[in-house]
Amino acid sequence: MIYLDNNATSKPFPEVVDAMTQVMTSRYWNASSAYGQLDELDEVVESAKESIRNLIDAAPVDEIFFTSGATESNAWAVAEGTRRAKECGWVLSSKMEHPSVREPLESFEAGGGKVRWVPVTRSGTLDLHALAEFVDPDLRFASLMYAHNETGVIQPIGDAAVLIRELAPHCLIHTDATQAIGKISISVSNDLKEVDLLSFSGHKFHGPKGIGGLVIRNDARVQPLILGGGQQNNLRSGTLNIPAIAGIFAAASKCLQNFQLGLTTSIQEVRDYFEDRILLLFKDSYILGSTASRLPNTSFFGINGADADDIVYALAAEGLILSKGSSCSYQSIKPPLIAQLMAYTYEESTTLLRFSASFETTHQDVDSLVHRLHELLVHDSPGHRGDG
Ligand code: PMP
Repeated sequence: MIYLDNNATSKPFPEVVDAMTQVMTSRYWNASSAYGQLDELDEVVESAKESIRNLIDAAPVDEIFFTSGATESNAWAVAEGTRRAKECGWVLSSKMEHPSVREPLESFEAGGGKVRWVPVTRSGTLDLHALAEFVDPDLRFASLMYAHNETGVIQPIGDAAVLIRELAPHCLIHTDATQAIGKISISVSNDLKEVDLLSFSGHKFHGPKGIGGLVIRNDARVQPLILGGGQQNNLRSGTLNIPAIAGIFAAASKCLQNFQLGLTTSIQEVRDYFEDRILLLFKDSYILGSTASRLPNTSFFGINGADADDIVYALAAEGLILSKGSSCSYQSIKPPLIAQLMAYTYEESTTLLRFSASFETTHQDVDSLVHRLHELLVHDSPGHRGDG
């Protein structure tokens, strides 16, 4: 199998599987029960927090709470933000947000809340000029993503947060950093000083599924979303998923090591090689967000006349895995919303495919994919059938 859908989920590093197996076989007890051996599990939890802090360059005072993944972290952030906005304010976001942010905000709006949606430019970035005009001192919550899951476009989130803080000092600022963490080197201490909440998910950076977290900073006082046994300082109840926490420790440590070894540069080389070949072979092809700064592993591309659904199924039948956009919308018959926001036509947006590489992707993988795409779209297409 050639797996090129790493923005949907990524293969756990062998170190992750080892760490989880070890905890599941030898340290399976409940972290909240006082058996006297508790410290050992505390150590697993604290080391995992430390490895996340190192990966994103967060300060020791930045608190990390483990959740079931970014969907829950986003739900928690939005619940807090909309609660604050209910009485005297309104909230700000963008329609390009992942559905786990956008949909709770749409339901807040349907219930009478006020949301201002920042438009997206043709290159797939937040329109900062519009944002500046939207913000006023009554703004209580802003949720803006760090990097887009389909285009890979890295958003000017640091600048946006500074601007919001200047104009709306009481605003709680959240970023969904799910696609950025582990793919690009980030420093929350230097670049995201004004960001109060940050969401992440383990399986997007070669960790386990079903574990993620919310980083709470700048002394933001947040109420819990999930009540119950009072774990994690009463802020997120539920038995700690120690095996997954051990796994996220291993994943974050390995990602940091990979950054230090410069491995993201080689991912970008493979991605750029892929894009060069696509643009050369298919004269009616286009890459969304190519003029913006993007995640080094992602390419969201279209080839005029192609049917994204047919291609994804045909390639998958041969073990070539990529997607027609976000996996969260794979059952949707609608083309990707982001293409519409970036002013691509309906026809163009039905051709879009997402290539998302990992540390394991090679030039040969790209050659196999491009060769097969060429066969499907040129040789096998009506009018060309039988040409050889
Ligand atoms: N935010 C973004 C930007 C994502 O790409 C995803 C996963 N597609 C999520 C949130 C949700 O992550 P999870 O499914 O792990 O909860």
